[in-house]
Amino acid sequence: MKKQETSFSPRAVSARILCLAKTFPFVKIKRCGTSLCGRPIDALVLGCGRKTLLYVGAHHGSEYLTANLLLDFAEELCRAVDAGKRLLSFSARELLERRTVVLLPCVNPDGVALALNGTSFDNPLGRKQIGMNKGREDFSKWQANARGVDINHNYNYRFYEYKELEKAYGISPGRSRYAGEYPESEPETLAVCRLVEEFRARLSVLMTFHSQGEVIYYHDSPLTRQGARFLSRTSGYRLERAEGLAAYGGLTDWVNTLSIPAYTVEIGRGENPLPISMAPLLYITLREMLISSLAFF
Ligand SMILES: [Zn+2]
Repeated sequence: MKKQETSFSPRAVSARILCLAKTFPFVKIKRCGTSLCGRPIDALVLGCGRKTLLYVGAHHGSEYLTANLLLDFAEELCRAVDAGKRLLSFSARELLERRTVVLLPCVNPDGVALALNGTSFDNPLGRKQIGMNKGREDFSKWQANARGVDINHNYNYRFYEYKELEKAYGISPGRSRYAGEYPESEPETLAVCRLVEEFRARLSVLMTFHSQGEVIYYHDSPLTRQGARFLSRTSGYRLERAEGLAAYGGLTDWVNTLSIPAYTVEIGRGENPLPISMAPLLYITLREMLISSLAFF
């Protein structure tokens, strides 16, 4: 398989994070953890306000366009602050005086690397990974982490109920949907949980980005209703309630239990992996939602 060292690879994501921190002195890098294969899981922290918004991308390997989206957002925000410009109708500097923005672009760098470049028998985990991928060498649709755990089913929310469903559906470690042995068993999940816990008292919202469907999933309650309508209005995406297998062990499920509004935004439309050429249009479509959220939440 030809290696894709595009601007979407974990290495390129790390390089972009580093570049933003070097270029703009008000940007801090926070190391949240490292993946099973030792790749860094880093967040960017911007601003100094008490209210904090957390944007999370790339839980799923083949959904690497979500990491790119958040980095495009971070870059535009940084440039506007630096130049003293307005974003939409807001002064970027004032936004970041009133808010702290935490962006974790890539939760699952090993999964992204697998989806982009596959694996090989030379890799220590390669033989097992090809087995979990049902013998296929094509990993382009891979969602899970390096040992076949779907990070977005590994959070502590109705986890053991889901394990019963796993048995009924015959789900095992593989490309997607396997929840792991116990809640937060994976270093990638722990990295996100630590970040949420650190900012917990100040978090006004968490948004996690997946692809695809042009839809925003949420658990309908007085906590989330108004925000859901706002996100739908500013993105043009439709609203749906999370249900079925998607409503167990997910990040937004767990964060809602902490009384923090949380939403899953499924970007773009098509089949995963969405074409890389779609990235600029995705940012244009979601720019208003991303920026105006800073004032709304
Ligand atoms: Zn996903």
